[in-house]
Amino acid sequence: MIRAREEACDGAQRDPVPEGPEPFTEFQNRYGTEEQCEAAVRRGRWPDGFACPRCGGREQTVTGKRRLHECHACRLQTSLKAGTIFAKPLVKWFQAMFLVTQSKNSISSFELSR
Ligand SMILES: [Zn+2]
Repeated sequence: MIRAREEACDGAQRDPVPEGPEPFTEFQNRYGTEEQCEAAVRRGRWPDGFACPRCGGREQTVTGKRRLHECHACRLQTSLKAGTIFAKPLVKWFQAMFLVTQSKNSISSFELSR
């Protein structure tokens, strides 16, 4: 403590770069809302915009409470999560959480629960 104060006083040891934001804060800024997460999944699934999994149609309308994407050409309704890891059964998520909490640099399960 005392040593650090002495270094700060002579100015030479001071770090000119201010400390960046906490990694989790950064993460929250990017993926803190449902809309941001949805947009991220959409970019991964349809990087060039919507493409119907049945007919390849590009025109769609988001419809209903489940926010299904309905193809204009063939009327197929598909969810954003269908065919992605996010549509997997809960047991898969619990397995993923187990693996994350077991890894060395993991966040604690306490942090996950918040
Ligand atoms: Zn279609």
